[in-house]
Order: sequence, then structure tokens, then C-alpha cells
Amino acid sequence: MTQGAPAPDGAPVAYLETSGDDYAARYTAGLRVEGVDVGLVVLHGRCPRCGCAFSCTHTDRVFRSPRRRGPRAYVPVLCECGTRHPGRPADEKGCGAYWNVVVERVTGRGPG
Ligand SMILES: [Zn+2]
Ligand SMILES: [Zn+2]
Repeated sequence: MTQGAPAPDGAPVAYLETSGDDYAARYTAGLRVEGVDVGLVVLHGRCPRCGCAFSCTHTDRVFRSPRRRGPRAYVPVLCECGTRHPGRPADEKGCGAYWNVVVERVTGRGPG
């Protein structure tokens, strides 16, 4: 039970396309990776910048490519929260923050 969210009564987070060195670490600290299918994962996490929780569906050939021997994959994540952040373009989502997370390859071999 951690209460690491930023203070909700602070100033609203304005939309800004930016990244930070600690975004990935803070994001993965509370990240839950759900393997939906081969090459398809859903990342459940909280944006390190605006503090909003959101889910990000990611499809990547890395997960199913047999030639990729690396146990991990770098997944680019863009904040896609549904909160209205000031200054956000109409065709954008989230607060503009982006970062890369390292996701372990899904090695599901269960029956059915
Ligand atoms: Zn947000
Ligand atoms: Zn955000």
C-alpha cells in the first residue's frame, strides 16, 4: 500500500511533450504487464508526470520474433490518460510525457 501519487490539490499538469530520466523507473515501479496474446501485451501503470493511471496496449513483433534472442524488449510508452490537461491538442491524449520501459518477453507456454 503505497501512496506515492503527487498531491492532487496542486496546480494542474499542463500538456507538454517531454521525458525524464526517472520516468521509466517510476512507471515500472507500479507497472503490471498483462500478456494478452502472442505479441500483444497490456501495460497497466501510472504516468510518472501527471500521476494518472492508464492502460497501454502494445503490439510488438519483438515478442514473437524467434530471431530476437534478447530476453527483454524496449517498449516506447506515451501517456494516454483520459484526464484533460491544459493546452492539449484535440487529437492528442495524456499529458505529453513519454518514456521507454523494459519489458520481459512473454514466455507463455501454458496449455490452451
Ligand atoms: Zn494525466
Ligand atoms: Zn501523463
